[in-house]
Amino acid sequence: MIEDYPRTVIEMEKRFATEEACRAYVLALRWPDGFVCPRCGSRRAWSMSRGRILCRGCRRQVSATAGTIFQDSHLPLRTWFRAMWHVTSQKNGVSALGLQGVLGLGSYRTAWAMLHKLRRAMVRPGRDRLSGVVEVDETYWGSEEEGVIGRLTEDKALVIVAAQADGERIGRIRMNRIPDLTKASLHGFIAQSVQPGSTVTTDGLNAYLGLEGYIHDRQVQRAQAAGEHLLPRVHRVVSLLKRWLMGTHQGAIGQDHLDDYLNEFTFRFNRRTSRSRGKLFYRLAQQAVQVPPAPYDSLVKPPPIGGG
Ligand SMILES: [Zn+2]
Repeated sequence: MIEDYPRTVIEMEKRFATEEACRAYVLALRWPDGFVCPRCGSRRAWSMSRGRILCRGCRRQVSATAGTIFQDSHLPLRTWFRAMWHVTSQKNGVSALGLQGVLGLGSYRTAWAMLHKLRRAMVRPGRDRLSGVVEVDETYWGSEEEGVIGRLTEDKALVIVAAQADGERIGRIRMNRIPDLTKASLHGFIAQSVQPGSTVTTDGLNAYLGLEGYIHDRQVQRAQAAGEHLLPRVHRVVSLLKRWLMGTHQGAIGQDHLDDYLNEFTFRFNRRTSRSRGKLFYRLAQQAVQVPPAPYDSLVKPPPIGGG
C-alpha cells in the first residue's frame, strides 16, 4: 500500500464519511498485500457484509477490527478516525476533556479510554533502536513533597530518557519509566533502546559503569559554567517533556498512566519535522491495527513497571 492518507480535515471528513469507507481503510492497512487468514494463513476469502471476511481455508469469519485497538469498541469507526485526526493534527495533542468536547462524546470516561488506547498505538511494534551517539539521563516526575527531605522521591516516578545526536541537534528519542537506579534498570533500558556498538553518553552515576557492548562516554561532573549541560540534548528533551505534561495536561497525570503519556510525547517528538499532519494520522492508523487490543481494565490498572 502506498502511503495513502487525507491531507486536510475536509479530505478526511469526505473520505471517511461512512463506516464502510473506514473499514476498507482498516483492511488495507492490516493486509496491504491482500487478506491472509490469521488462523490458517489462507489467502482465499469471501467478503461479507459489515466488513467481515469469511476465510475459505478454515471457514472462520474475521472482522476488520478484531485484534486491533478498535476491537470491542461500541463507538463507530468514524468517531475513532476523527479522534485520530484530532490527536495528530494538534501540535501538542489533546486532553480527554478537549476530545470529549470536539467529538461530542457522552462521557469523559469514553474520551479518556479512547486517548489511552491511541497512546498504546503510538509505540511501533518492533521499532528499531537509536544509534550513533546517544545521550542517556534520568529525571523525576511527580508531586513535590516540600519539606520532607529524604522522602522526596516516594511520590515520584523515575523516567529514563535517551536522545540520539544529529549533529548539534536532537535526532530520535526513547523514554521509559524505570523502578530504580540500579544497574539492571539502567543497562536494561539501554539494551532495549540503543543499538549495540553505539556511543552512550551518561553522567558519572556509578550504576552506568560496566556497560557492555557499547562505547561508554562517561561525563563526570566538573565545575562548569552556569546553564551549561554535559548532556545538552537529553536535558532539552526532559524540559520539553515536562512543559508538555504541565501544559497540555496540567500535570494531572498519575504515575500509573505516565507510560502512555511518554509514548505520546515520543511519537510526537520523533515526527516533529514531518511536514504533513496527515502523515501522522496515517502512522497512527497503521499502528492502531498492529498493536493488540487494550481492554479498559488494562488502561485503568496498567501492569507494574519492568513487566514489559
Ligand atoms: Zn482461515
